[in-house]
Amino acid sequence: MFSFLILQCVVHAAPARLPSFHTCVGANEERLTPKWYKEHGIEVVLGTRVKSADVRRKTLLTAMGETISYKFLIIATGARALKLEEFGVKGSDSENVCYLRDLADANRIVDVMHSSAGGNAVVIGGGYIGMECAASLVISKINVTMVFPEDHCMARLFTPKIAAYYEEYYMAKGVKFIKGTVLSSFDIDSNGKVTAVLLRDGTRLPADMVVVGIGIRPNTSLFEGQLTLEKGGIKVNGKMQSSNSSVYAVGDVAAFPVKLFSETRRLEHVDSARKSARHAVSAIMEPEKTGDFDYLPFFYSRVFTLSWQFYGDNVGEAIHFGDFGGSKFGAFWVSKGQLVGSFLEGGTKEEYEAIAKATRLKPVIEDTAELETLGLEFALAVSQTPVQAPPQPTEVRGPSLILEKPLYVWHATAGVIVAASVAAFALWYGRKRRRW
Ligand SMILES: Cc1cc2nc3c(=O)[nH]c(=O)nc-3n(C[C@H](O)[C@H](O)[C@H](O)COP(=O)(O)OP(=O)(O)OC[C@H]3O[C@@H](n4cnc5c(N)ncnc54)[C@H](O)[C@@H]3O)c2cc1C
Repeated sequence: MFSFLILQCVVHAAPARLPSFHTCVGANEERLTPKWYKEHGIEVVLGTRVKSADVRRKTLLTAMGETISYKFLIIATGARALKLEEFGVKGSDSENVCYLRDLADANRIVDVMHSSAGGNAVVIGGGYIGMECAASLVISKINVTMVFPEDHCMARLFTPKIAAYYEEYYMAKGVKFIKGTVLSSFDIDSNGKVTAVLLRDGTRLPADMVVVGIGIRPNTSLFEGQLTLEKGGIKVNGKMQSSNSSVYAVGDVAAFPVKLFSETRRLEHVDSARKSARHAVSAIMEPEKTGDFDYLPFFYSRVFTLSWQFYGDNVGEAIHFGDFGGSKFGAFWVSKGQLVGSFLEGGTKEEYEAIAKATRLKPVIEDTAELETLGLEFALAVSQTPVQAPPQPTEVRGPSLILEKPLYVWHATAGVIVAASVAAFALWYGRKRRRW
């Protein structure tokens, strides 16, 4: 269901190429090849765009003029890259200005990179696409300057301290950063090729190629005026069902309730696309057995030899931990006295699982200084907690780090065990540190 492709440059600092792995794996890591669909009774119609939809009549009209009727419709139209023209800048059609959303874009970037070898690339945008492309470009021996309006990279997720680590790492690899300004126009030669990038602060950057990663816009246009929209996407309930009960939406296009935060969110990641799709299918096929989608937001990235994962929400106070001068560090976010988000760079599989589990448990944090000291060990201790239904919900406190007042029955048991395991950990840790 997804068509996501990345420039594969990451872990082994090899030159950019398209990934050789199959990105569309289903449950049990099955490859979703045409044969797979056929064997599972799914008709796949490729090369066909749906031109209009009528949710009242339950029909779709394709660009070829064919009408498709449905009993249930699952919208998985994803998103498209935002174009510079939407910000009043012309030049997206220049042959050396690249975007990255689909296979055609990825092939084009690789071609333009080859013809720009040893030259200059300007990367517009300091988010995922900008950061991952900049790494790929510099590995391919192209001089890279990143330009973005925020104070630091990955501004929607990183704290200034986390961002500083990655920016320093990138600078050591040769990437230059120009922050706090935006692109204003291009110098374009008589062949329609960009030769320089002009910034609003007056800077002129010679360019052999430009990569634009300034965000995405969900593909909702087929359904505007027919379905309720929120956060730029199609609003769905916990069953991934839209304001029309026969229509479901999943993946990047869906704005769904994140139970853990009692808020509607639209996420732009593979993990949520896969899990929301599975949930929608389950809600259609087995409505009585399917509860509300309970998703823990998860993002990750791998660039150069770096690798991080983030779970939850980055709101409230950020508590950093670990060795920012080394290779393993992270942050917890504490909001309204509870741990709501966790970030870790350089973790092991077990450590990433631990921060995920700790975040889902949302333990109460009474002493943030202590949390800072414990760092990853806190998540490791909390993650030992078996999660199961308890007989009686009660609030349980540990030495200073406790679980929330139970919202769900199982939290109480978790609380008892976490309190116990944190206490045990505290004892061990106290011995080690000779403090408690
Ligand atoms: C370069 C890049 C790297 C990424 N890296 C990561 C990563 O490392 N980890 C991660 O978690 N996420 C990553 N993402 C995000 C991830 O790819 C998306 O979250 C995911 O693809 C969303 O899946 P989707 O099915 O909702 O949408 P998409 O994958 O966008 O699929 C939408 C599909 O709908 C089709 N469509 C749209 N309109 C119509 C229409 N009118 N008629 C018919 N078909 C239509 C499109 O052609 C497309 O095939 C990356 C994205 C990009 C672009």
